[in-house]
Amino acid sequence: MYYNGISQIATGRYKGGWAMERKTFQLEDIVEMKKPHPCGTNRWKVIRMGMDIRIKCQGCDHSVLMPRRKFERKLKRVIQSAANSE
Ligand SMILES: [Zn+2]
Repeated sequence: MYYNGISQIATGRYKGGWAMERKTFQLEDIVEMKKPHPCGTNRWKVIRMGMDIRIKCQGCDHSVLMPRRKFERKLKRVIQSAANSE
């Protein structure tokens, strides 16, 4: 009984955190976009953060600058977070 109560609280917190962090990203993160680059690679590194986001294709080193809102729409997922890399 005691264990179940703790477990439910922990699960609730985890879900809340997950929802908020679903589309967070930071400098140096490796991300996947909804559409791959024409070169065939779908790994991009965030190399500039601000009102505009600059990402660099990891296949051909081509970089793209786009407004943050557009980037968030096109972002599929963060493959590798710079903060979590060990
Ligand atoms: Zn490319």
